Amino acid sequence: MSAPQHIAQAASHITPLRETWRLLMQAARSRAPQLRASLIGLCVAAAVQGLALACLMPLFQALIPNPEWSAAFPWLLTMMGLMLATAVIRWWAQGFDYRGDMVRNTHELRSELGEQLRRIPLEMLQDKRAGGVNATLLGNVDETLSYTLTVANMMATALVTPIAVALAALWFDWRLGLLLLLVFPLLIPLYRWRRPAYGRGMRMLVEANERASADILEYTQGLPVLRAACCVGERAERLQASVKHLEVIQTIGEKKGAKPNLILATVMELAILSVVFVGTLFVVQGTLDVAILAALLVIVVRFGEPLATFVLYAKIIDLIESALGKINAMLRIKPLQQQVPIQTPQSYEVRFEDVGFSYARAGEATLSELNAQLPVHSLTALVGPSGSGKTTVTRLLMRHADPQTGRITIGGVDVRAIAPEQLNALISVVFQDVYLFDDTILANIRMARPDASNEEVERAARAAHCHDFISRLPAGYATRVGDIGGRLSGGERQRISIARAILKNAPIVILDEPTAALDTESEVAVQAAIDALVRDRTVIVIAHRLSTIAAADQILVIDGGRMVESGQHAELLASNGRYACMWQAQQSAKNWHAGMARCPDEEAFVS
Ligand code: ADP
Repeated sequence: MSAPQHIAQAASHITPLRETWRLLMQAARSRAPQLRASLIGLCVAAAVQGLALACLMPLFQALIPNPEWSAAFPWLLTMMGLMLATAVIRWWAQGFDYRGDMVRNTHELRSELGEQLRRIPLEMLQDKRAGGVNATLLGNVDETLSYTLTVANMMATALVTPIAVALAALWFDWRLGLLLLLVFPLLIPLYRWRRPAYGRGMRMLVEANERASADILEYTQGLPVLRAACCVGERAERLQASVKHLEVIQTIGEKKGAKPNLILATVMELAILSVVFVGTLFVVQGTLDVAILAALLVIVVRFGEPLATFVLYAKIIDLIESALGKINAMLRIKPLQQQVPIQTPQSYEVRFEDVGFSYARAGEATLSELNAQLPVHSLTALVGPSGSGKTTVTRLLMRHADPQTGRITIGGVDVRAIAPEQLNALISVVFQDVYLFDDTILANIRMARPDASNEEVERAARAAHCHDFISRLPAGYATRVGDIGGRLSGGERQRISIARAILKNAPIVILDEPTAALDTESEVAVQAAIDALVRDRTVIVIAHRLSTIAAADQILVIDGGRMVESGQHAELLASNGRYACMWQAQQSAKNWHAGMARCPDEEAFVS
């Protein structure tokens, strides 16, 4: 099952409390026994507190109508002892929070989610928006664990304490005790009535929050692009729409929640009042001690309110449960299967053998029966219309996902049998969009090979033609990318990413249209850097402008996920097929018009 399906499933059904407990213990990981003990401790503390309150009954009996110190003292002492015990147990139980278990647990869970992010097929991650992942890693983890003990404490005091009082009341007057106990079964149908609505409301709220958070993140990150494209307003409207949606969901929640909550609270208060009413009747009839009724009144005032608002806690339970659902959905995504025994390729020839692939969400095949051989030290260009599957070919080689049929080999070894770290080390990628981290230029280049010396980084930077402009920056290689932000041009950023790839020194290089978005001047410099990178390597380049790949060792023309032609530039021109058509279209449109060139019989035959 895919990640979105998991999430949709988690969002659509209401799990029983038993399941919430199981999920909670699962989330507590190695600290589950401590959490279980803490939660049980809180229930025990609430029960002991109930017994302490129940002591008021014999205490009042000893004081009304004739106060007697000798009769009152033992009960006073017992009550104080029980109150003290309640405080001690509660202190101990809450220790899960203040001893740091909760924080460590939160950290453990977050690390595990981080580790999972590292292992899950990248193709799965592409379905998720950055804001959503962020919400799972930060918000959901906090919502799950930090609220648990506080909510459990409130619930135990609301429910367990009155039950303990009612059981103790049985001892003094079984009729009153029984009446009090009857109040609790009332809670169950009321609780069941409200819980699904709360559950749905909470899930909708969590989804809306996640959507707004993702929109805010995308908006702030994409602001430069939006400004350039003059569509800030349009995007801001979208952001406003999702914030508005959040408001609507909250309003619905309040509207739908307020009335039933009032009804529930009133019903519970009426039920408790009726117990007091019946008690008064018994006193008037002379069958109940007035001291017991007086004590009961005091006790009822103490627990009436929490009991009436008990159902409200369902909201928080649902928030916790919804967060647990998200965390679990993320943790359940299976990493790609590793073939054993693990093998190490001895050469770097790449082969695609009858490769067929479709994305989890896409209905039809994205790639079918793809066969290709990329010899060592050769340059292979992938060309074809936008959406034909070129990027997918490179993603499969990097193992963002595995093909459903056929196999991909490096040096004769199936990529599934290569250890993931080694596969990463074998392939360098230069994308059209360069991502630079908010760190120094030095660190940004060195991340390709953390053990590289400063000299090696500089050598790679020189080879990538970026040493000169880096030297001119305020602090040279120590300049932080965040500090100079937009001062780096697209071409300069691209050359930094190429320096990274040169430093990595991987035998296979994937170039994903690295010069497509550059102006001519930058392109010349970047092209020179690329020439340094691709020397003596197995190279795959996704090509946009055919003039840049005319010298390729082989050109694979992909259309609709199939390879429709292959060969060298001259051969393909001579055969007068698709490639020749694309070439003529681009030639006649010239470079500045290339993006709009069309083959007569093709829709958008250029990316
Ligand atoms: P190209 O690089 O030639 O433009 P792609 O390999 O990016 O083509 O995409 C090939 C097809 O697969 C397109 O129809 C695209 O919509 C689809 N596709 C790409 N990525 C995904 C994805 N993560 N999930 C579902 N479909 C996808």
